[in-house]
Amino acid sequence: MTNDNTYFDAMEAKIPHGKVRTRFAPSPTGYMHVGNLRTALYTWLIARSQGGTFILRIEDTDQGRLVEGATEVIYRTLAECGLAHDEGPDVGGPVAPYIQSERRDTYGTYARRLVELGHAYYCFCEKTESEEEYGGFHREADPCRSLTPEEVQAKLDAGAPYVIRQKIPETGTTTFHDAIFGDITVENSTLDDQVLLKRDGLPTYNFANVVDDHLMGITHVVRGSEYLSSAPKYDLLYQGFGWEVPTYVHCSPVMRDQHNKMSKRHGDPSYEDLKAQGYLTEAILNYVALLGWSPRGEKAEQEVFSLQELAETFDIGGISKSPAIFDIEKLTHFNALYLRAMTPEAFHAVAEPYIHEAVKNPALDTAAIAALLQARCERLTDIPEKVAFFEDLPAYGTDLFTNKKSKTNEEVSKRMLEAAVSALEEVSDWTQEGIHVCLTDLAAKLEVKNATLMWPVRIAAAGQAVTPGGAIEICLILGREECLRRLRIGLEMLGA
Ligand code: GLU
Repeated sequence: MTNDNTYFDAMEAKIPHGKVRTRFAPSPTGYMHVGNLRTALYTWLIARSQGGTFILRIEDTDQGRLVEGATEVIYRTLAECGLAHDEGPDVGGPVAPYIQSERRDTYGTYARRLVELGHAYYCFCEKTESEEEYGGFHREADPCRSLTPEEVQAKLDAGAPYVIRQKIPETGTTTFHDAIFGDITVENSTLDDQVLLKRDGLPTYNFANVVDDHLMGITHVVRGSEYLSSAPKYDLLYQGFGWEVPTYVHCSPVMRDQHNKMSKRHGDPSYEDLKAQGYLTEAILNYVALLGWSPRGEKAEQEVFSLQELAETFDIGGISKSPAIFDIEKLTHFNALYLRAMTPEAFHAVAEPYIHEAVKNPALDTAAIAALLQARCERLTDIPEKVAFFEDLPAYGTDLFTNKKSKTNEEVSKRMLEAAVSALEEVSDWTQEGIHVCLTDLAAKLEVKNATLMWPVRIAAAGQAVTPGGAIEICLILGREECLRRLRIGLEMLGA
């Protein structure tokens, strides 16, 4: 054992001070669940709203659960969401490395330090993995707690395998403060001597998070409320080392319903799933921000927030203690608002791949199709089905030609289509304006309401009752040849 402080002093010297520093510390699971995305967002917002630093740390000490490519998913998601990190494995920083598996030696050194300080002990007992992971044994019964330093040294010299456990005081209470939940006090007798360093020399999450949060100068620890019950043990670790305790911000879970947490395993969507279901990143972020946080003051009624506005408005005091229920309908509502608010060019850019899923014909103008869709779709995945008729005329029944409000039936429709085909054949200028003038003049000449003419034209052109856009827009996009071909098919079906 050593009293040499050089290593520890050097580590302390690296810690940045004076600014808010927050960290997002995901385990690389291969996807970003909604609760995790919300944690990332709140963590980023706390840093940004206070001119602080946002750090990404990868918590991969559970080597058994490593997933190939999972770290890339984290980088990609943060980048896509605009949650840029100032320090992290890929960008570096003053307290690197930012991947726990690369900090292995640090944890061992600090665990042994804590033994020297009297707040941890070597434990040579044979215990099952599950006892180690879940603390399922009673510390009073642990003979290792009271081994003398000589006994410990002898076992170490003999190469006996060991774990290092936290030495929780036998009596008394521990009180910690959480920014959301306030002061929480627990009896020390209810806390277990948790494992800090495992037999393989790797730390448990419970130890690594404390060492890293301290050595990285983290001022606000934002995480799920499932960690609340461990917080007293973390407090005792901070105290044991003589370190300042950071501000805890424990966020209540995101629920699927009153009783169940959202979980990917039970089929609840992750961020990637929501993207694949046609939701925009901005809408997802906006909705997720409001799952468990509400704006206060003059923004109290506001619902739509850009990331920038969130960074200006967010405050820890607005985070709720109660669990939030994820409501896909509400997200869909936000998505529709975001789709509508885009510029036509931006909407076209996001809609185009979905239009192309159904529309392959290069003669069809996807910008014109996008313009019809913008006000009429809630999710991008609604698009292919809505526009497939442009590519291929669907099979339809002549009953579609009957519409009471437009005063059409099959007989009227036949008359309208005959007149429309002749008139449209003469249109030299196949533009919105050209088609519009042609058809409205024709309705006037035939002494019918515009709708009486437009209804059959639209049905024949689209082959379905509900379409994005009216007769004129659809005729325009189809082009003269295809439009006339379809109107003639309609006529044939009506027995002309
Ligand atoms: N790696 C932990 C998790 O993904 C992080 C918890 C924390 O932020 O401290 O749940």
